[in-house]
Amino acid sequence: AEATLEQIKEIIKEKSVELLHLQFVDIEGILKHVTVTSAQLEDVVEGKMMFDGSSIKGFSPINKSDLYLQPDLTTFAVLPWTVEAGYSEARFLCSATNPDGTPFEGDTRNVLKKTVERAADKGYTISVGPELEFFLFKNDDNGYATTELTDKAGYFEPSPHDLGERVRLEIYRALKAMGFTIEASHHEVAEGQHEINFKYADVLTAADLATTYKWVVKTVAKKFGMHATFMPKPVFGINGSGMHVNMSFFEGSENAFFDPADEMQLSEKAYQFIAGVLENVKGIAAVTNPLVNSYKRLVPGYEAPCYIAWSASNRSALIRIPAKRGLATRVELRCPDPSSNPYLTFAVIASAGLDGIEKGLEAPAPINDDIFHMSEEQRAFRGIDNLPGSLAEAVKELEAGEIAFNTLGEHVYNEYVSLKKAEWDSYRTSVHSWEIENYHSKF
Ligand code: GLN
Ligand code: MG
Ligand code: MG
Ligand code: MG
Repeated sequence: AEATLEQIKEIIKEKSVELLHLQFVDIEGILKHVTVTSAQLEDVVEGKMMFDGSSIKGFSPINKSDLYLQPDLTTFAVLPWTVEAGYSEARFLCSATNPDGTPFEGDTRNVLKKTVERAADKGYTISVGPELEFFLFKNDDNGYATTELTDKAGYFEPSPHDLGERVRLEIYRALKAMGFTIEASHHEVAEGQHEINFKYADVLTAADLATTYKWVVKTVAKKFGMHATFMPKPVFGINGSGMHVNMSFFEGSENAFFDPADEMQLSEKAYQFIAGVLENVKGIAAVTNPLVNSYKRLVPGYEAPCYIAWSASNRSALIRIPAKRGLATRVELRCPDPSSNPYLTFAVIASAGLDGIEKGLEAPAPINDDIFHMSEEQRAFRGIDNLPGSLAEAVKELEAGEIAFNTLGEHVYNEYVSLKKAEWDSYRTSVHSWEIENYHSKF
């Protein structure tokens, strides 16, 4: 809901809001905030709050470190758990600006705004509904996360097996109070795994919602003595956590992906969008699947994709077209995971799709058979390629393509590539428990 400054002042007065958290994300999408008092509201909305950009990952060098926070008034929300505890606090999500007031190019929220503008120039608004899965682990007596899961329940299982039910209820209440429209909440396939779905929105709002969702899920879980993680594959041998991204383009109030006359009721633009995503997906995987651990989720047999294909209903395919048509027509990309920065992830997916539309790319035939059960030869025969198998491969593909560079801009691109290379190098040279287990006594 659009809030004006007057309405915000009113809420602050009515709810006796004492403190305001000015939130933003770093290059990895990790939430940061600085807290001010409500008395500073006027200065804050004028973007006068300064911070040290050189202390934020992927932001500015030490010699140009003064940056400012520009709150987005539409993101104002009173924090329900503070109200319950008897001390009212609120938050804004912010974009970073340079001292001269221009958008800071290292801020990933600003990166997404550029993609929004690029799509708008072509007449499109981008609509996104992300689905973020997470695991609940037990905390120890000191409040630190353990690797012990909180329950043994499975898909759609109710209480008494589902021990996350109360937590999800509290998360739902908090999100609702903060303006989310919640559509579903359920136990996921893996033990200790959950998903709460919220309604799609314009792409910038959707990225704000995803960021807020992760923070609220973690905050509420902690109150229950649990640790919520969005790590993509926390446990070997069971499903990992995805962030399926449902995306559509609108032209005015019309869904540009819908065409009732087509056999699949998809428009030519929808097919081109699909083609663009398939064509570019290897080059954006390092963004949509950013961690060493991300590639341990993208293996056969766990409802996560590893082959580059699309289908109407096939959950082993990378792209699925959910059954709904009309205004709800959308393309579901299933590789992204919730450890990715949603601003960057949505930006590169939209760019890949736009690329397909601009170049008029043709989508390959849909694959309706179970790809997990095809042999390598069968996949090769049908022209089904693989997603990158590791972060190292993904970074190579990122550097080989142009989509990421053009979408992230020079600053974020350079910072991102060097961050991911360092991450891979640290992993590559570490000795892991698997190696100790398999080699230590044997050799
Ligand atoms: N957890 C699966 C993944 O990794 C998705 C399962 C589902 O939502 N059907 O993407
Ligand atoms: Mg789902
Ligand atoms: Mg799911
Ligand atoms: Mg889904």
